[in-house]
Amino acid sequence: MTALGRLRFPVGRGLGRRYPELPHPYRNEFQRDRDRIIHSHAFRRMENKTQVFPAGISDHFRNRLTHTIEVSQVARTVASALDLDEDLTEALSLGHDIGHPPFAHAGEEELDRQMRRFGERFDHNLHALRIVESFEHRYASFPGLNLTFEVREGIAKHSHDFETGESPALDEYLPGLRPPLEAQLIDLADEIAYNTADLDDAYSAGMFEISDVRNAVSEFDKRYEAAEVQFPGATGRERFQEVVRGLVDELVSGLVQGTLQAAADAGVNNPDDVRQCPRRLACFMLSSHATNRQLKQFLHHFVYFSEPLAEERRRSAGMLAELFEFYLANPGKLPENYVESLAVTPTHRVVCDYIAGMTDGFLLRCFQQVLSARY
Ligand code: MG
Repeated sequence: MTALGRLRFPVGRGLGRRYPELPHPYRNEFQRDRDRIIHSHAFRRMENKTQVFPAGISDHFRNRLTHTIEVSQVARTVASALDLDEDLTEALSLGHDIGHPPFAHAGEEELDRQMRRFGERFDHNLHALRIVESFEHRYASFPGLNLTFEVREGIAKHSHDFETGESPALDEYLPGLRPPLEAQLIDLADEIAYNTADLDDAYSAGMFEISDVRNAVSEFDKRYEAAEVQFPGATGRERFQEVVRGLVDELVSGLVQGTLQAAADAGVNNPDDVRQCPRRLACFMLSSHATNRQLKQFLHHFVYFSEPLAEERRRSAGMLAELFEFYLANPGKLPENYVESLAVTPTHRVVCDYIAGMTDGFLLRCFQQVLSARY
């Protein structure tokens, strides 16, 4: 099987920016988008946003920014192996988590719970679009980052595609059609990055024994057995690292091979065929899909729903909820630019936008200020 250069999205055929701009002499449009994302506030804030383990436990656990760099590395490797557009892949990888609120999924769930009280929702992909469309103020000529259509579409379709009318705010992003193959890779590169990284961090945190993961993930067991033979003098930690490295490699290769196979089976010949195809073409081979699923199940049981992390989540969600209530009752205490938007936007949405943009550390400081003002 050959690579998929015939399916690469041609940067010159993009649908362009909302506000037209002159071309740059030596950076193409997707390279410019990548640079705009890297220089945004939202990108830098990810350094102080939880991925899984709250800051302060260890200086070498992933935060949302280092996770993002790992996703970008995985996705670019896959794009390069398949001969797809690495710049589009990189821009989308670097932007894939900028809409995440503080405190990871606990924060996202709590904001969503608060918004449901008003018949609305919070979704971090939609929030990322709002950031790049309006909340970043870096240019005098337009609001937001004025990204290309394909990068905005990739953000809108990060985790799933949609039909016309399903999500009215997204109707301009070609409902009913698949995004370019480069955009399809991001969600799976994200899974590869966090499943293997969370396993690594959780092992460092002492949340499971090697035997636990050997019993739950057959590919881990197979590779660990081989590592025992190959590295008889190695420590358990060194063997563990060898196996995790091997798992990353197997998942990345499985994504490359699975996508090649799916493209061959679907008979697609150009980027338009990719869009018209009834399903996404980026996928794992069956064996890697099974490894990925087993890893995910293991992490749910031993890590995400373990008591220490569940307790941490309850604490974070509680603080977020209390802060939400406070600003809802005292909208005048919001920063000036948010107070101004109260004239055109409902209070709950303004409060939601303000809290969603906070880092973990900023939310904690706000919470302390609010508490001290109250009592
Ligand atoms: Mg992610």
